[in-house]
Amino acid sequence: LTSGLESAWSKLKGEEVLTKENIAEPMRDIRRALLEADVSLPVVRRFVQAVSDQAVGVGVIRGVKPDQQLVKIVNDELVKLMGGEVSELTFAKSGPTVILLAGLQGVGKTTVCAKLANYLKKLGKTSMLVAGDVYRPAAIDQLVILGEQVKVPVYTAGTDTKPSEIARQGLVEAKKKNIDVVIMDTAGRLQIDKGMMDELKEVKRVLNPTEVLLVVDAMTGQEAAALVTTFNVEIGITGAILTKLDGDSRGGAALSVKEVSGKPIKLVGRGERMEDLEPFYPDRMAGRILGMGDVLSFVEKAQEVMKQEDAEDLQKKIMSAKFDFNDFLKQTRAVARMGSMTRVLGMIPGMGKVTPAQIREAEKSLKIMEAMIEVMTPEEKEKPELLAESSTRRKRVAQESGKTEQQVSQLVAQLFQMRVRMKNLMGVMEGGSIPALNN
Ligand code: GDP
Ligand code: MG
Repeated sequence: LTSGLESAWSKLKGEEVLTKENIAEPMRDIRRALLEADVSLPVVRRFVQAVSDQAVGVGVIRGVKPDQQLVKIVNDELVKLMGGEVSELTFAKSGPTVILLAGLQGVGKTTVCAKLANYLKKLGKTSMLVAGDVYRPAAIDQLVILGEQVKVPVYTAGTDTKPSEIARQGLVEAKKKNIDVVIMDTAGRLQIDKGMMDELKEVKRVLNPTEVLLVVDAMTGQEAAALVTTFNVEIGITGAILTKLDGDSRGGAALSVKEVSGKPIKLVGRGERMEDLEPFYPDRMAGRILGMGDVLSFVEKAQEVMKQEDAEDLQKKIMSAKFDFNDFLKQTRAVARMGSMTRVLGMIPGMGKVTPAQIREAEKSLKIMEAMIEVMTPEEKEKPELLAESSTRRKRVAQESGKTEQQVSQLVAQLFQMRVRMKNLMGVMEGGSIPALNN
């Protein structure tokens, strides 16, 4: 998916703004990339439409290129598609929380039982596993072994008892032991069949579970859409767990589940170890799909800090070399809010990394600057040339702010340097001149 999208962004190089015309080709690339990632067609259609609608209406943000902007829009839509926020597990208000796991054979249900118990232990909750896969003796043994591994009790009743009866007994046992969470393992088939569905319905009726989670293998791709829909209609699920994400390179399943069923992915399995289960973060997943973390955080910070009008206003001032101490202060403060100029510049390739010590240093010097700018007259703030031309004025500022004259001179020089630097950043190559300070 990532490489398919690369070509979409590259087609916007050199463009000024996003228009209906210039996004047409990138949108075709995005559509193709999603289909290749095995996302189901209706989902792709709706997605592409949503992205196009937004892209055309979006305004210009200073310093952000159209391709970066499109990356951001695609990212935000991906996050939305996958449910937006993290969906936490729900716990019962009283009595044990019951989690029923369902899914096809081999998707990782039994493994998830133990991983989930291990995960809940970290949340301070006790759990008990119930062996409800009675069709293969090996399945019960597997659950017992995994239970020992994560040190949680496993309730078994052999292979001759009906799963719904095992469920009932297990629940009684858990209540007796004051267990917080009961996790019910069930049998899977290679394909959805009536026998499996009827059995699950019966187990669900007996357990009255808080969560019914469909375990889905991430490699299933768009098949996952139909699977989730069927289970949701037949049994009624509360969410899904996506397993084997460590092996999936395409992401189709992750993108389809929520859109087709309305039910969120709650957890993901990323390996065979007991620790490899974690909450599903739509934003991280989108980031992983796009592989563009740096661009995203850059655009986000730029948006956050600069209101659009503000930015345009500032841009005009910079272009006309009117960048004064008021703007300087506004800009420096905005940058400090961004987590310091240096850190932002660190995101731009070739600017190098900065250390926390350097950031602290930058924050300290902002305080000093603020003190000096505060005591300037409105005229001086608007026309920094006044300060450049008169050492008397600089001496006065130094005295009133309790700084040295040298510090004031530095500040004035810095403003003019910043003018030049910003003009260059804006792509105006001729730059400006830095005046020498007159006495
Ligand atoms: P079940 O039939 O649904 O109960 O599936 P199992 O729990 O028996 O798992 C089937 C196989 O998938 C086992 O070999 C597991 O080790 C493996 N497996 C389960 N979850 C994951 C995962 O997240 N990543 C990987 N790589 N393998 C997994
Ligand atoms: Mg199993």
